Amino acid sequence: MIDSVNLKQRFSKSLDVIDRIVEEHKPIVDSREMGTVLHVGRGVAEISGLPTARNDELLRFPNSQLGYVFNLDLDSIGCVLLDNNIPIGAGDEVRRTHRGLDVPVGQELLGRVIDPVGRPLDGKGDVVSLYRFPIERPAPAIMDRAPVSVPLQTGIKVIDALVPIGRGQRQLIVGDRQTGKTSVALDTIINQRTSGVVCVYCAIGQRSSAVAGVVESLNRTGAINDCVVVVGQSDATPGLQFSAPYAATSIGEYFMAQGRDVLVVYDELTAHARAYREMSLLLRRPPGREAYPGDIFYVHARLLERATCLKAEEGGGSLTALPIIETESQNVSAYIPTNLISITDGQVYLSPERFRKGILPAVDVGRSVSRVGGKAQLAAYRSVTGPLRLAYSQFEELEKFARFSSQLDDATRQTLRRGQRVRELLKQNVGDARDVVEQVIAFVAVTHGVFDDFEHGSVKQVETQFTTVVKQELPDVCRRIADGNSLLKEDVDAIVGIARDLGTTREEAR
Ligand code: ATP
Ligand code: MG
Repeated sequence: MIDSVNLKQRFSKSLDVIDRIVEEHKPIVDSREMGTVLHVGRGVAEISGLPTARNDELLRFPNSQLGYVFNLDLDSIGCVLLDNNIPIGAGDEVRRTHRGLDVPVGQELLGRVIDPVGRPLDGKGDVVSLYRFPIERPAPAIMDRAPVSVPLQTGIKVIDALVPIGRGQRQLIVGDRQTGKTSVALDTIINQRTSGVVCVYCAIGQRSSAVAGVVESLNRTGAINDCVVVVGQSDATPGLQFSAPYAATSIGEYFMAQGRDVLVVYDELTAHARAYREMSLLLRRPPGREAYPGDIFYVHARLLERATCLKAEEGGGSLTALPIIETESQNVSAYIPTNLISITDGQVYLSPERFRKGILPAVDVGRSVSRVGGKAQLAAYRSVTGPLRLAYSQFEELEKFARFSSQLDDATRQTLRRGQRVRELLKQNVGDARDVVEQVIAFVAVTHGVFDDFEHGSVKQVETQFTTVVKQELPDVCRRIADGNSLLKEDVDAIVGIARDLGTTREEAR
């Protein structure tokens, strides 16, 4: 045990200094400091007193209501409340907690549905975890980051082939309402069941029924076991909705620090921006463009800057971010969508027209991009995505004009024929994820014209039959594709050969 008297003698001079500093700052360390509620608004409160409260500090109100400091004005404090259902009123006492907003993190959270401060929403009891992380944490330093090189397979053919996503990338999912944005993100989460990627689904400003639907899908598929759901739903206070994506990222960062790959889905950041606007206006921060506060870009930039792929010396973990943004009337140049497009490394654009026509998932390949691109794609894709993209984009260009012309030359007819089959192949239902091998086999076949002789209505059926046969007959080729090797010429020939044989057999059977 340390002998304090001895120590004091030895270090008396330094201790004198420390004593003096403590004495001078006594009011600051007084935990009994108390404030009073001046006025309560929708999800916000104004407080007098608490002269030493810090920005973002958690404050305690009566009946376990919590709030955090948002504005530090000269004679009052603007506070954002975290619970809609606990009434507070003018004159109520407020106390400091001396800690910022934080969230439990750890293995115990897997399979749980919580709110942004860690309160359970799934009826499975309190979240008991050893660690808590502040919801706002600095982004990893540039020197600690590694280039994105490992693919994050979504299981959705059109994305994996033409807009590939890498682990550590930030890829925006953007589209009007009801265009399948959540479905794309959810299918991606469900496809991670066997990949070892930990997923965090963060619902911001969503209806409870929509969140319940997502949780139900995760439960049904078993994906919930490697997933944490963080919910700041539409009936929560704007402060709680606002903190949800930061909390979700902190939860993901815990796993990233363990060297694991993490996927975080933010569904959706338009609602997040709206919550921030609401609380800022209620607390009289000056409005800027579209009434959003001037720092709305920074709000999203500092969130998405935390997504990264760490160097091996830093543990080698990664955090992939899939933020979702809702546009109005396909206006991607509105304020919040342009902000996010410039922050992220690419976007998957979902078009309402395609959705209406039944081309699902409604990804508009021409308006989607992945700036990491092929660098994070398995090698086997590289030989097929070039011809695939070309066939598809030529077809889309021609399709518009071909409607007006009855006399088409053979080459145009052939381009249209191939393009229709590519489109059929890229259609995919919700929950119908395809693994890498199935995807590559199908792409090899379509780009080599194997499907050209079939009616485009039967492409899906032929594809299933064909991939099953190739998997049976060419196990070595399949293994090489899955291991990330390039396709050799003889592999392609073998796949095309089997496809042609199958085509002939079907013809004869007819
Ligand atoms: P919101 O704007 O309400 O959040 P959203 O853009 O997230 O909508 P979803 O909820 O994912 O869209 O999808 C809307 C509907 O479209 C759902 O009923 C879903 O089942 C259906 N849907 C989405 N993608 C597909 C698909 N690939 N195949 C069939 N149906 C789909
Ligand atoms: Mg949605």
